Amino acid sequence: MENVIEVKQLVKSFGNKMALKNVTFNINKGETFGFLGPSGSGKTTTIKILTSQLNHTAGEVSVFGNPLKKLKDPSYMKRIGILTDNSGLYERLTIYDNLAFFCKLYDVNEKQIDEVLESVNLLKDKNTVVQKLSKGMKQRVTLARAIIHKPDLLFLDEPTSALDPVNTKHIHDGLKKLNQQGTTIFLTTHDMQEAEDLCDRVAFLHQGEIKLLDTPQNLRLKYSDSSIKLLLKGDREVIVQKDEEGADKIYQYMKNNEVISIHSNEPTLGDIFVQLTGRALS
Ligand code: ADP
Ligand code: MG
Repeated sequence: MENVIEVKQLVKSFGNKMALKNVTFNINKGETFGFLGPSGSGKTTTIKILTSQLNHTAGEVSVFGNPLKKLKDPSYMKRIGILTDNSGLYERLTIYDNLAFFCKLYDVNEKQIDEVLESVNLLKDKNTVVQKLSKGMKQRVTLARAIIHKPDLLFLDEPTSALDPVNTKHIHDGLKKLNQQGTTIFLTTHDMQEAEDLCDRVAFLHQGEIKLLDTPQNLRLKYSDSSIKLLLKGDREVIVQKDEEGADKIYQYMKNNEVISIHSNEPTLGDIFVQLTGRALS
């Protein structure tokens, strides 16, 4: 499989503080890869290094098969999109004019604007001035701007942090569509649900170190305690093991018509993170 990003033993120090310690991972072409970690774990630092906004202290980083130092030229910049919190939209221009400005910058046909606005559900608002928009809508415009040139690789630093569920959903829908069209996505988040919804694989980052890296499904299976949860009539909850004794119990409860529902007792990504680091994600 082709790697779009390869990171080996990446170290970043700020003075005597080590923000990243031997971080190693690859991102495959077409993948949505999530960096999941609490505030201060090194997520933004990683994105800044990968997008040439910050130099690293040690280790090897390559993007599209080239070492980072070769990637400062405009042709690289045209292949990537970046969404960070410093949005930098022109407040007094309309949504459309903001994007038209970026089309000129990136050599993109303005005909793309309607399509990209549709993908983040803002088409009907295209003539609204940015300063009149809610925070969530502004974030959707920022996303539209980051993807207007159909980048091969998109970096997102906590794209839905502090947004309401409706805006979050519009952003997730836009990202899924983009990923289906072939864009590789590197995303940081402290929202485990976002990671589960969007990511093919996730890395757990804690104090500058990757603690785990796998698909959300494998992580849940690996950390599941192989028990089954039964919800019974009378607001009762019973946990049984996946063995003969458990099967007998389930049989009895079902025979007595007491069972309302049966659930596998898998942990969430958030549960696993706490188990591993002793710390919650947010
Ligand atoms: P996250 O994005 O996961 O919240 P950051 O990558 O912003 O974490 O920060 C990781 C660590 O590096 C933190 O301890 C932070 O204080 C430190 N750090 C980040 N940028 C700088 C900087 N410019 N100077 C000194 N320390 C920094
Ligand atoms: Mg950050």
